[in-house]
Amino acid sequence: MTWLLPRLLLAFGATLLGFVLGAAVRAATGVDSLGLGLGVVMGVLTVLMFDAVRGHRLLSWLRGNQTDGAPRDTGLWGELGYRVERAMRDRDRAVARGRLELEQFLSAIEASPNGVLMLDAQEHILWCSRVAADHFALDPKRDLQQRITNLVRAPAFVAYLQAGRYSEPLVLGNSRGRGTLSIIVREYGDGMRLVLSLDITESLRAEAMRRDFVANVSHEIRTPLTVLSGFIETMHSLPLTAVERERVLVLMNQQTQRMQTLVADLLTLAQLEGSPRPAPDRWVSLDGLLLRVAADAEALSAGRHKLRLKPTTGVELAGIESELLSAAANLVTNAVRYTPDGGEVEVCWRLLEDGSGEMTVIDTGPGIAREHIPRLTERFYRVDGSRSRETGGTGLGLSIVKHVMQRHGGELMIQSELGTGSRFRLVFPAARVRQASDSALGDEAAFGGAALSHH
Ligand code: ADP
Repeated sequence: MTWLLPRLLLAFGATLLGFVLGAAVRAATGVDSLGLGLGVVMGVLTVLMFDAVRGHRLLSWLRGNQTDGAPRDTGLWGELGYRVERAMRDRDRAVARGRLELEQFLSAIEASPNGVLMLDAQEHILWCSRVAADHFALDPKRDLQQRITNLVRAPAFVAYLQAGRYSEPLVLGNSRGRGTLSIIVREYGDGMRLVLSLDITESLRAEAMRRDFVANVSHEIRTPLTVLSGFIETMHSLPLTAVERERVLVLMNQQTQRMQTLVADLLTLAQLEGSPRPAPDRWVSLDGLLLRVAADAEALSAGRHKLRLKPTTGVELAGIESELLSAAANLVTNAVRYTPDGGEVEVCWRLLEDGSGEMTVIDTGPGIAREHIPRLTERFYRVDGSRSRETGGTGLGLSIVKHVMQRHGGELMIQSELGTGSRFRLVFPAARVRQASDSALGDEAAFGGAALSHH
């Protein structure tokens, strides 16, 4: 009621003034009620004017964009202005908070590896995440409010969306003609739909690889098993002379060894995949490693080749000795196995300018045609299956080498020319190469653990 008192006082003052003026006028004119009438009119007009001016000030503020505060006034108009301003500020804050929450919510959806599309009941796009835009080849801004079936025209997708049976996901070739999507639709609200898309290309590929791998392993094991059971059958049913028996046993032994090598290589691969990256601070002497590889290779060659396998490098490599030994041994034994008698096999070491180093195995063997080179490190990939098997190969050697090099931050590079020979290079990063004289440790490789080599 504090606002009422100033008004009453103002009205009273104005009335009094009007009354006095009226009295003066009455004395001059002799009209009786003029004083009273003038007093009342002046009182009412003053209060009206007073409110009209202040009301108008508030109204012009409201009509504007309210960038500054409401007009500072006392009394009724002042409080009215203040309350309106506060209500507006609260509303602005609530809107800003709502917008921020929505933005956070949408960025959380954007962070999902799944594509998310929201459709209204008429299949118009209400919102589209970047991943969904990429999956369906949409523009997340331009295509809003467009009907999805006008933009994604794959008949399987249109039929799936319109059939309304969403219990099973739809598997769809990606709109850009590469990859495969798994699409899930969920209904919500009033006929709205949420479309989730997931790129399953990689998992399909991994699944296919796993199937191929199992099929390959089974095939590799079945062949020697069939041969073995044939021999067992023979020994069972036929009376063999001691010489024949001896021959059969030698052949059986070969098949058993073949399976053993295969299983050993499979275990090596599994171990490589399942173990942590080799520590960068266990140093292995390359010269010691090469001495052991050379001994195996010399035994395998049995003097049929000219071998230069023992460069003096004085280098140490950081990594797991058995893995490094396996990588080097696989390359050197491959070179010996595939190079015809009289050929040459050489191992070189080179320190590169940036501190990295490369070990190269060079042979004068048959070489490998260009189209095979990118596939050599695939499991069980062989250029010449019979030559590989004859010499005890499993088709896993180079994939083991590649794995070992990747784990050591290095690389396997293959150069080859048909009829001339091949060069297999192992490139080690600078952080894993040092000159032995830099080290306080001795020659570790000479006392190392068992080799993982299969050949
Ligand atoms: P494998 O056990 O069959 O030797 P690898 O993975 O070691 O398996 O090698 C894959 C294929 O690469 C071999 O089957 C062979 O055809 C080819 N290859 C590997 N090394 C050489 C080489 N030094 N010269 C010619 N061909 C080679």
